[in-house]
Amino acid sequence: MRPSVLDPLFVPITSLAGVGPKVGTLIERVVPADLGDRPARAADLLFVLPNTVIDRRNRPGIALSAEGQIVTLEVRVDRHQPPPRGNRSVPYRVYAHDDTGEIALTFFHAHAAYLQKMLPEGERVVISGRMEWFNGRPTMVHPDHIAPIDEAEGLPLVEPVYPLTAGLSAKVLRRAIGQALGRLPEFPEWQDDAFMRRHTFPSFGDALARIHNPKDPLDVAVEGSAWRRLAYDEFLAGQVSLALVRAKIRRLSGRPLVGDGRIVEKLREALPYKLTPSQEFALGEINADLADPERMLRLLQGDVGSGKTVVALLAMGRAVEAGGQAALMAPTEILARQHLSTIAPLAEKAGLRVAILTGREKGRERSETLEGLTSGAIDIVVGTHALFQETVTFHDLVLAVVDEQHRFGVHQRLAITAKGDAPDMLVMTATPIPRTLVLTAFGDMDVSKLTEKPAGRQPIRTVTLPLERLDELVERMRDAVAEGQKIYWICPLVEESEEIKLMSAEDRFASLKPLFGDRIGLVHGRMKGAEKDEAMRAFKQGETRILIATTVIEVGVDVPDATIMVIEHAERFGLAQLHQLRGRVGRGDRSSSCVLLYKDPLGETAKRRLSVMRETEDGFRIAEEDLKLRGEGELLGTRQSGTPGFQVARIEFHADLLEAARDDARLILSRDPELQSERGQALRLLLYLFGRDEAVRLLRAG
Ligand code: ADP
Ligand code: MG
Repeated sequence: MRPSVLDPLFVPITSLAGVGPKVGTLIERVVPADLGDRPARAADLLFVLPNTVIDRRNRPGIALSAEGQIVTLEVRVDRHQPPPRGNRSVPYRVYAHDDTGEIALTFFHAHAAYLQKMLPEGERVVISGRMEWFNGRPTMVHPDHIAPIDEAEGLPLVEPVYPLTAGLSAKVLRRAIGQALGRLPEFPEWQDDAFMRRHTFPSFGDALARIHNPKDPLDVAVEGSAWRRLAYDEFLAGQVSLALVRAKIRRLSGRPLVGDGRIVEKLREALPYKLTPSQEFALGEINADLADPERMLRLLQGDVGSGKTVVALLAMGRAVEAGGQAALMAPTEILARQHLSTIAPLAEKAGLRVAILTGREKGRERSETLEGLTSGAIDIVVGTHALFQETVTFHDLVLAVVDEQHRFGVHQRLAITAKGDAPDMLVMTATPIPRTLVLTAFGDMDVSKLTEKPAGRQPIRTVTLPLERLDELVERMRDAVAEGQKIYWICPLVEESEEIKLMSAEDRFASLKPLFGDRIGLVHGRMKGAEKDEAMRAFKQGETRILIATTVIEVGVDVPDATIMVIEHAERFGLAQLHQLRGRVGRGDRSSSCVLLYKDPLGETAKRRLSVMRETEDGFRIAEEDLKLRGEGELLGTRQSGTPGFQVARIEFHADLLEAARDDARLILSRDPELQSERGQALRLLLYLFGRDEAVRLLRAG
């Protein structure tokens, strides 16, 4: 049951004054919470934070107010001048003065009675708005605020400006938020005292008050202590709930997987190379997890080409030694097949029975695989989403490896988990996710990193080239092909579209075909499975030397002797994607290059992206730069578009807090796993406020 102290905030917004069903729907659009099916509540309004402020502290007096300035004036009303009867096009004017001069307040389509009431002749009032000078005369058109002098205190001198949506007036929204704030009870503090002091955090209530009723523009700054306090609250709520979920998942298992080495030894013998030190290290960590009765939830992070697949294979070998089955899931069919072709020859030497299951396996082949999985005759299965289907049952799935995790949702992760008796889970990602994002995406997962590439890799030379100089490139490609090199050529779209005139893969193929004849192949997302396989096979075996491709090859494809990567319209790709694509070359011992073909003129961000690509091959640096560039992009745009999954926290500004929140959550739960202590009880409130109450339910379920 929700603690009753929260009740005043957990009412639908439509129960607030001035918020009917229509306004309610509009407000729901600006509420940052992911509402799902539920109606917005007063609590959600607390986190509708201002984009910026209007500073009304400037009070220069009428004569000294500059054109266009927002000013606040203290004036005496002199006289009203209504428009001539029947002529609505002339505005209603009210003249007023202060010590420095006279001003005309101008109202269009005014209600005379209202103006008489707000601006009684002879009275002193405070007005605030934008100053305009017409023919040397100061005016203010529709002042934003008008108040009698004795109510001037209530005027927001630093006025928060909230995100708006068409049809929703700022006043109505402000009033609703004000009511939500008014319903805020006195909460017990859920944050640690010393931590609060160190960061000069105000209390939750004070932070909200400061942001919604700022006294200074700094009060609403994203980097300011009020906003940071709320961001930390949100991070902590997220980290505590992830940790609770994880603890729950771990409680489900309790099966140590220990092997005798007979399979792993054979696999190692079959490898044509030695594992790198970080591969060995990661494997050590994984084996320790497998042997532990707690369930493994580990992220294997390694830049493109760092050799994650073999680590997964050895882990799966260990799982089979321990008497279970293992599954390796890939996000695309091409990748699943590639994994199979890597794994199958090695597995065969170790006596492992391996099968593949994708949407393409049909008929007898499929039913045999399904039977083999159910009976346990198959040790390792490689597949795609097809593995999640209900018809798939395992004899005893003990290890699930998920490759390129960012393409799979949490749902799918859970679906595969359900296929076994809480199998150990290894998630592999090639995207060098900065630590901060790992935390938001995966929570408190353990992380193993492959920090170096296999020995003998040559650096990749990266150049940028405007599309106009395509001819030079084609010349160089002729030479390269004559030398027996292999070239990827990536195009962004499959078909020519009217709006986006990008050269499509098919067009590019058609234009290069006359020059390269049989040496050029094509693969794209709309081709049939068998055609894709054939194109990949021909390229891998060297029958074709140039492969024109859409980004279907982006993830994981391994053709070690490909040496040139051409990316057309590189300016259209994100940094992470460019890095992924470039990682398809430079895998063998020959030196490789990457050509980023771009279309002039380049935008500022695109320019920066391409130069980052030229400067570095370090995936982590690239990921950090990516985050920065995106952060800046957001700064330039609206501030509203926050970090996905968060209401107030902004990863570009608050990343430092995220790590602290993770550690804090760990500590809290190690001392108080059921959140029973005084602080634990307060933290439950926090979980509710940020919509993490699912986790509280887990607590009760035990
Ligand atoms: P990724 O981490 O991008 O998934 P892969 O697992 O596809 O990388 O490996 C990239 C290439 O490196 C493959 O050709 C693989 O055979 C090779 N490889 C993996 N480990 C080593 C190693 N220790 N020494 C040499 N080559 C290796
Ligand atoms: Mg891979």
